[in-house]
Amino acid sequence: MQSKNDPRERRRLGSTLSDATLTDGRGAEAIDYRPMAMMPDVKVLKIGGQSIMDRGRKALLPILDEVVAAKDTHKLLLCCGGGTRARHIYAVASDLEMPTGILAALGGYVPRQNARMLQMLLAKHGGLFMMHDDFEKLPLYFRLGCIPVMTGMPPFGYWEKPARGGRIPEHRTDSGVFLTAEVLGAKRAIFVKDEDGLFTDDPKKNPKAEHIPRVTAKELLARDLPDLVVERVVLEYLGRSRSCTEIQIVNGLVPGMLTRALAGEDVGTLITRD
Ligand code: ADP
Ligand code: MG
Repeated sequence: MQSKNDPRERRRLGSTLSDATLTDGRGAEAIDYRPMAMMPDVKVLKIGGQSIMDRGRKALLPILDEVVAAKDTHKLLLCCGGGTRARHIYAVASDLEMPTGILAALGGYVPRQNARMLQMLLAKHGGLFMMHDDFEKLPLYFRLGCIPVMTGMPPFGYWEKPARGGRIPEHRTDSGVFLTAEVLGAKRAIFVKDEDGLFTDDPKKNPKAEHIPRVTAKELLARDLPDLVVERVVLEYLGRSRSCTEIQIVNGLVPGMLTRALAGEDVGTLITRD
C-alpha cells in the first residue's frame, strides 16, 4: 500500500489530456468547445494605416472626435495599422532578400509608431499605449475611463509563418485585430478604412466595382475576388472563429460612420462566419 506521502502520488495529475499526443486531431481537442468570453463588450477597432493614419490630420482627427465622444458609452480598444512606411520596409527588405520573419519583425515597428502617435493625440482623453501582454490590465484601464491603444500587428515577428506566395507576412495588422477580438471574446471587430466596405474589386482601381454589404467568409473565399479590403487569412480564421464571428469594414472618411457602427448599425460591409 502506498503511504499518503508517496512521492509517486504527488506526481500523478488527473488530466483529460495527459495521455493525448495533441497531434492526432481526436480526443478532447476534437470536441467542439465554446470558450468563455473574457471581455465580450469591448469594441475592438482598427484604425487603418495607409487608409487613415497616412492621410494625416484631415482624416484622423474627425475619427478621433468620434472615438472620444463614444468612449464613455463603449469600451474601445484601438489597434493601429502600419501603412505606407511598413510597405516601404517590406520593399527594401525584400530587395535585400530578407526572409518573411525578418519582414514581419521590421514591419512591426511601424504600427507601433502609429499607436504611439495615436496615444499622444488621445492623451488628454485617457489615451494609453499598451503592449500585447497588457490584456490583463484592460479591466482596470476601462474602469479608469482610458482609451487603450496598441499595435494591430500580431506578435509573431521572427516566428511569422512562411507566406504562401512571395514573402510578405500574411499576418499583418488586420489579422492581429481579428485575433485580438477573438481572444477577448468580442463578437465583432470594426475596421476603419477609407472605402465604404468591401467591393467586388478595388474601387480605387476599378470604377465598376460594386459594393457588397454582407457576405460570409466562405462565400467570399469561394468568389476569389481579384483583391480584398482585408488580409485574406482573416477570412480563413473567421470561418473557424469561436467568438469573433463578424468583421465590419466602415469608411472612416465619412463623418458619423464609426459612431453608427459603434451603435451596432450594419453600415459598411459585414463579413460573417455563418
Ligand atoms: P489599412 O491601411 O487599413 O490596412 P489597406 O490600404 O491595406 O487598409 O486596405 C484598404 C484598401 O484596400 C482600400 O483603400 C482599397 O483601395 C483596397 N481594396 C482592395 N480590394 C478591395 C475590395 N475588394 N474592396 C474594397 N477595397 C479594396
Ligand atoms: Mg492593410
